[in-house]
This record gives sequence, structure tokens and C-alpha cells, in this order.
Amino acid sequence: MTTFRNRVQDAFATGVPIAIDRGARGHYDKRVKAAAVFPQMEDMRDRARVIRAEVIASLDEVLAEFADAVAARGGKVFFAADAAEANDYIVNLARAEGVSRAVKVKSMVTEEIELNAALEAAGIEAVETDLGEFIVQLAGEKPSHIIAPVLHKDRYAVGELLAEQLGVPYTDDPTELNDIARKHLRSRFLSAEMGISGVNMAVAEDGAVALVTNEGNGRLCTTAPQIHVAVMGMERLVRTRDDLAVILEVLARSATGQGLSVYTNIVTGPRRSGEPDGPDQFHVVIVDNGRSATLGSRVAEILYCIRCGACLNACPVYRHVGGHPYATTYPGPIGKVLTPSLYGLEEWHELPATSSLCGACQEVCPVRIDIPKLLVELRQQSTGHMPRSIRVGLAGFAWVSTRPRLYRTLTRFVAFFGRWWSKDGWLRHVPFLLRGWRIDRDVPAPAPETFNDWWRKRGA
Ligand code: SF4
Repeated sequence: MTTFRNRVQDAFATGVPIAIDRGARGHYDKRVKAAAVFPQMEDMRDRARVIRAEVIASLDEVLAEFADAVAARGGKVFFAADAAEANDYIVNLARAEGVSRAVKVKSMVTEEIELNAALEAAGIEAVETDLGEFIVQLAGEKPSHIIAPVLHKDRYAVGELLAEQLGVPYTDDPTELNDIARKHLRSRFLSAEMGISGVNMAVAEDGAVALVTNEGNGRLCTTAPQIHVAVMGMERLVRTRDDLAVILEVLARSATGQGLSVYTNIVTGPRRSGEPDGPDQFHVVIVDNGRSATLGSRVAEILYCIRCGACLNACPVYRHVGGHPYATTYPGPIGKVLTPSLYGLEEWHELPATSSLCGACQEVCPVRIDIPKLLVELRQQSTGHMPRSIRVGLAGFAWVSTRPRLYRTLTRFVAFFGRWWSKDGWLRHVPFLLRGWRIDRDVPAPAPETFNDWWRKRGA
């Protein structure tokens, strides 16, 4: 795999980060406005955190209650240890039922397990029906944001893509673009034998799964086909409907600044006798895929996440580079913790380091996950995977900075040398280690006195 730095350079070459910054900033501003007119927001965040913390602390028991409740309502539950097991179950079910086309609601866990590829390898067409996911699928790309998958494209790029892929006249009018997608998808909804959704939250007490969407495609996918398969990460649970109401209060406000998403669907099993519509079969695939290991780790708090995306919108790193350089389903602050937790630090040790630890993510997180603390924990765990030069450099820094007299002497010397080396108050040339910093910034000459000396003069 290429390095994060290389992937960022690739992203900059496409100009994508400009669209990302605009889109993420827009969501961030909407969240600020929504919180300002909802006085209970902070209280709801506290309650949401307690709800999620209690579920994660007793996840085995809550999962068992949920599975029993689904079965009692005529649904089937399958526990998948990993992506392969989840995909096999769904592909085998599709084959057994003669499914040739499946329509999908946006779902990050199905991205995580690469379900579309598994279905297509089995000759089953998988059609994304969320507008953003549909565009991403047409472009053969990956989502760049967990709630706004196509944040990296503007309407002009979407217009060109639809014209090229669907053979329609070019337009960049959003309403016309919507109409083109709607017409294209309508016949797919009606002809699909299987509908596949994610799960925003599942409710243990009655086996319900809640889906929030803004486009209504969730309703079509979960009611028109004869089979509904809901795929969920094993941690996406609350105990009761009252707890679900608290999560919904903070979810859309944090994600898009809406009081509530346009559609909130609560699905409780297959069609029962006397009901006019709905699927004949309801399956819930509960995916572990590394979550059990995370549960027993020092970063288990990341499992409180309700996937609102607010931390991405607030993150200065995400806003600068976009989602694709993370090379994973979950970009931004959530991904910097979740991805190494699910797949291991050996391959993903770079991600926790891609943060300035500014704390913007924690400030907006509706369940108050202390992401900076988790990033520091993962950085400590990943030192063994860092290049030797960085390990030696950090060890040297630790050795010097824990010897105050030596530290003061060295910083005075570096400051003196820096001033001598500078010209007109600026450093024109910098040592190798600072060259990356110098690419986009000017480096001023060191101040006439070090901070330590300034501080000591004040008798502190
Ligand atoms: S970590 Fe918090 S802010 Fe980020 S997606 Fe999860 S719930 Fe939202």
C-alpha cells in the first residue's frame, strides 16, 4: 500500500480537497446552528453517551436479547465473524432464492465488508440507490465521507459522469440530476428481488432496526423486494425505543444540522399476515470483523460511535485532504481509531499519526468520544511499527527533554544558530527534517529569547 503522504499528494493533484472543504464546512456550520436552537443538545449528548456506554459494557447480553426479539418476530439472525462469513451468507441466500438483482440503501458496513464485489462475483447485480452512493458506484470510486459519500464531487463533475455513463444530455442543474437518477433507479427498485440495508441503530427490546435516510430510498429497498437483509456492525445497538429516541435527537443534528432526518424507518421483521406489503423474509447479518477484539482493548470507547460524521466535518486534516487518502471505509477522526482497531496497527499505524490532536472531533462528537486520547493510546502502541529513524529521533527527543539544563542549553544554541542563519527575519533554508513544513509555509527566524528564558525572567 502507498503511504498516506503519497495518497494526499494524489488527492491534491485532482483538486478534490477544495470540494471536500466546502462540503464539510457546510455540514459543520449547520450543526452549529442546529445545536444553538436546541437547548437540550448538551444534555442529550450526555444521555446518548451513557446509553452507548452501557450497551458496549454489556454487549453480549444486549446482542442476545436483540437476536431473540428478531427471531420472535419471524426474522433470522446470522452472526458473521468476519467479512467473508457475512458475504457468504448473503450470497448463498441470494442464490438459494434466485436473486439476480439487489437494491441497496447506503451502508458503511457493507462497504467495509465489500459486499458489492462479492455479489457481483456471484453474478448478482448490486445497485446503490442513495444518490451519493449511486454516483460513487457509477464512477467506480469509494465514498469519501461516511454520510455524504460523494462530497468530493461538485455538480459539474456529477453532470459529466451521468452524461457519460447513462447517455443522457449533460446538465449541472441539481433538480435535473436528481430526476435522471430517480428515473434510472425506479425500475431497479421494482425489479429487485432483494433489498439490502445497513442499520443506524437496532433496538434490543423488540428486535427493531432503525434506518435514517433523506431520500426515501430506504423505504423502497426495505419494502418492495421480497427479501430484506439488514447488515449491522455488532455494536450498533440500544436497549429500548426510548434510548433510540435520544440517539435520534443527536444523530441528524450532528450529521447535517437537521432536527430529524427526512425519513426514519423502523423495521420490525417480515410482513405479517394481513399486512398488504413488505418483504416475506427479514434477515439481520451481525458483523464482528474485528469488533470483539476492539471491545477488549484500550480503545473500546470508539465503539460508542453512531456514525454521524460530525468529527470528519470538524477535522482540519480531513477538510484539507478529503477522505480517499485514508484508504479505508472510515476516513477522518473516527477512521484513525476504528481502522487500526479493526485491522491491526501493523498495516494502519500511520493513521493515528495523521492528527494535530486539536480536539475539534471530541468537541462535536454527540457521544463525547475522547478521540484525541484514543489516538495517543494508538500512537503509543504503534511505536514498534514506525521507521527506525523516527523511533530513534523520538527517543532522542525524550532523552533531551527530560534533562532541563541540557534542554535549555540546546534550545538557546539552536535559537542563536537559527538567527545567525536567517536573513531579514526569515529562514530561507531549513534542515532536512523541516523541509515538509517549509513547502507551504515561510519559517520565521527564532525569537531573540527562548520561551524558557522568557518564563524564568518572570519568576515563574
Ligand atoms: S466518532 Fe463521534 S463524531 Fe465521529 S462519527 Fe462517531 S459519533 Fe460521530
